[in-house]
Amino acid sequence: MVQPKPLVKTISLATLTTLGVGGPAELWEVNTEQDLRLATREPFRVIGAGSNLLVADAGISERVIKLGPAFNDLRVYQGETDVWLGAATPLPGLLRRAANAGLSGLEGLLGIPAVLGGAITMNAGTRFGSMADSLLGLELFVNGRLERVSADSLHFGYRHSDLPTGAIVTRARLKLSRSSPERVTELMRQVDAARKTQPKVKSAGCAFKNPPGESAGRLIDLSGLKGLRVGQAMISLEHGNFIVNLGGAKAADVVELIKQVKQRVEVPLELEWRLWGFEQEVL
Ligand SMILES: Cc1cc2nc3c(=O)[nH]c(=O)nc-3n(C[C@H](O)[C@H](O)[C@H](O)COP(=O)(O)OP(=O)(O)OC[C@H]3O[C@@H](n4cnc5c(N)ncnc54)[C@H](O)[C@@H]3O)c2cc1C
Repeated sequence: MVQPKPLVKTISLATLTTLGVGGPAELWEVNTEQDLRLATREPFRVIGAGSNLLVADAGISERVIKLGPAFNDLRVYQGETDVWLGAATPLPGLLRRAANAGLSGLEGLLGIPAVLGGAITMNAGTRFGSMADSLLGLELFVNGRLERVSADSLHFGYRHSDLPTGAIVTRARLKLSRSSPERVTELMRQVDAARKTQPKVKSAGCAFKNPPGESAGRLIDLSGLKGLRVGQAMISLEHGNFIVNLGGAKAADVVELIKQVKQRVEVPLELEWRLWGFEQEVL
């Protein structure tokens, strides 16, 4: 019998990232364990929704692995408080489903345009809660096979997880609690109201981590950097920690903006984004 193969094609990573910059790479869309084995035979990186990535204009030489539809389980049902879901499940849809089913726990992740695997890797969150708060366990593809680990073993912290090097999150076991659709929707409304205004144009979310006890956005704002522009990349006028692509921005423009911010803000700032395809220590 002929084995089905992963879908492989060359794409521009600008089309797979929310910031909309980045050059070419070979994309491997995988749906089975066998696909994962084939795809990981050569150096690779994993992409989720591409909402926390800055990719170099020259692209990257590694394969880019994307989990396909077999890892997208947009299914949560009323009363189901302990649920395994695929890592390609989009958070916004999951939150809607959970609200409709009267399941609580994920409301703090409202507005984060990630898929589950990316949200887990980054431990995405807001001041109302983070991904790790609802995580019981994970299925990882690591060292050529699938294995299950407890969430506790990954020592989640602020935008941080201790995933083993080269591990791909394939599924996650979430813990939810019974509530009602009305109550969950109301909590989501409160989170939405309290979240800072976010630019509607292309971005990759907050560029910098908040220094302890401070807001990176506030520091950038106080340094008078809102509106600073290099090419088509600009520090958002609405939110100092967002760099937006006004249309056709290059990664090189974004890098230059980041350098200027780091030089001009007195408190040391650490990037929250993951950088692909840059020389070590470019930033
Ligand atoms: C408008 C906007 C608002 C945002 N708001 C927030 C916010 O409020 N809070 C917040 O925390 N973030 C926020 N972000 C940033 C971003 O959504 C999060 O960092 C998110 O966790 C990234 O998930 P992703 O699926 O897009 O991952 P990607 O950006 O695709 O990848 C991020 C990292 O995770 C790795 N990765 C992805 N999937 C897997 C996997 N299955 N296995 C192993 N590694 C994997 C990638 O290799 C990469 O290193 C925002 C972004 C935007 C554009």
